Amino acid sequence: MDTLVYSITEEQTDTLYINLTNNCTNNCKFCIRTHKSDVCGHEMHLEKRHSAEDIINQFKTFKTPKTVVFCGYGEPTLELDLLKEFASYLRKEYPEIKIRVNTNGHANSIYKRNIAEELKGLVDEFSVSLNASNEKDYEMISQPKIPNAYNEVQDFIKSCVNADIKTTASVVSGYENFNPHVDECCKIAKNLGADLKVREYIVSGY
Ligand code: SF4
Repeated sequence: MDTLVYSITEEQTDTLYINLTNNCTNNCKFCIRTHKSDVCGHEMHLEKRHSAEDIINQFKTFKTPKTVVFCGYGEPTLELDLLKEFASYLRKEYPEIKIRVNTNGHANSIYKRNIAEELKGLVDEFSVSLNASNEKDYEMISQPKIPNAYNEVQDFIKSCVNADIKTTASVVSGYENFNPHVDECCKIAKNLGADLKVREYIVSGY
């Protein structure tokens, strides 16, 4: 059975994660997908596309969490309709659950419209992978498949902030010799109105 909903510890904690797709418009050098196919024993490769009903059915097999994070082995906004459908279900049936989307920030460029505005009221927080303090480093570490990606990511962060949704830019530190220049990233995030989160690179992923 495909893993659509998962916990990153054996004992379920307050957070559940949603795996919508294995597609991504980045190919980050540090991406966990490049060296393993499971998270805590959950196989993350999906055999097929799924419906919101499939996700709901898996979700119901878990204890009700405090937070749901769209994350998984791919870019969740590439399945935007599915994301919206499941988030709407959560809003209606479990209004107390916080909803976060971990994203590469390419969605507005892909859809050619402002999806942050569309997710107002459905998403409580965006975590956007800034990944680097300049375009050259971003291209090297994220290997994006869309043009002008570094600027697009910054514009997306701004769109989320303008939509009045809590927004955190993230960088990964400790991957081989890559230096994300955290102070610079912090300034960039602040200028865009977002916080910065530094995630330590862990070989096992999460
Ligand atoms: S954006 Fe996330 S899923 Fe996509 S390649 Fe980078 S780390 Fe992997």
